[in-house]
Amino acid sequence: MNEPKKTNLLALTRAEMQAFFESLGEHSYRAHQVMKWIHHHGVVDFAYMTDLSKALRVRLAEVACVQTPEIALQHFSQDGTRKWVLKLDAANAIETVFIPDGKRGTLCVSSQVGCALDCRFCSTGKQGFQRDLSVAEIIAQVFVAQQSFGPLDNLGQRPITNVVFMGMGEPLLNFEAVVKAAQVMLDDLGYGLSKRRVTISTSGIVPAIDRLAETVDLSLAISLHAPDDALRTQLVPVNAKYPLKSLMASCRNYLACYSERKRITMEYVMLEGVNDTAQQARQLVTLLQGVPCKVNLIPFNPFPHAPYRRSRPAQVERFQKILLGAGLFASVRKTRGDDIDAACGQLVGQVVDRTRRQAQWQAQIPVQTLV
Ligand code: SF4
Repeated sequence: MNEPKKTNLLALTRAEMQAFFESLGEHSYRAHQVMKWIHHHGVVDFAYMTDLSKALRVRLAEVACVQTPEIALQHFSQDGTRKWVLKLDAANAIETVFIPDGKRGTLCVSSQVGCALDCRFCSTGKQGFQRDLSVAEIIAQVFVAQQSFGPLDNLGQRPITNVVFMGMGEPLLNFEAVVKAAQVMLDDLGYGLSKRRVTISTSGIVPAIDRLAETVDLSLAISLHAPDDALRTQLVPVNAKYPLKSLMASCRNYLACYSERKRITMEYVMLEGVNDTAQQARQLVTLLQGVPCKVNLIPFNPFPHAPYRRSRPAQVERFQKILLGAGLFASVRKTRGDDIDAACGQLVGQVVDRTRRQAQWQAQIPVQTLV
């Protein structure tokens, strides 16, 4: 006979953890203790949770677990960047990257194995879509990274100050799991991150942005990459379904839903001779009128057989000057972690060689959960 499946406590939000303990006939305060043991101290064995009664520890071992994926590989770069390959199951692995920058430490997490959206400049898109990550698999990335520095409560300054959903996958196509994982990241009993410092980066799934606006207060980044629909549809094919006009309207709505939301980040990867001309910079200024935002110009990181080249620095500078001259916030992203293949656009693709399952994204968008 199969044993009943144990509940993986890594995946539970505070409310779910409280409900879990109530279902065991315990006070909901146990949820606070156990969340701190897991997320602050990195303890996964109930036997070491010494402020719980022995009877409860035995009971937990019977019905629950704290399960994290196996670390298949970890690599710490000389510039402080850290990268992990986590083995999810026999067929799937993901990559997670930590990038320090002064007092800021940014963890880039994945939300899916592969991605169905096939953006032309992205190595993940070339891998095709395999599956969504569970809440536990998303949180495990923060857990593993945090534990590489030691227990949270023993550290004066927290090494992970920011989390960005910019790894493998389109986070808004794994909506429920991403939102729950973000709630654990924001919770003081979880990782205590500020809502300004947890960023969902999306290619522009408009109904899901609208739903996100009403669900949780987080920072939003849009993978924009082009100032007009024709070019954006080439670079980011999902634009054919959600063109710029609807995307910009959705961005304005997102900002309007919470008064303290200041601005959205517009990501713009600089591709030589494709989207980096002065005229395109001026078009971008026009497109972004009335959308409080900052533009992040990203040097393209070539991958094998990539059809694009990185824009020359002088061209990037010229593009940035036009944006700044028009009153937009515009910065150029530093490239980091090149020595461990962890710079943006190089995240993933080294893990497994897969048969591509592309062009099915329209069928995979769970429309019924988005509207
Ligand atoms: S840029 Fe993002 S949405 Fe586009 S293919 Fe890559 S992972 Fe997917």
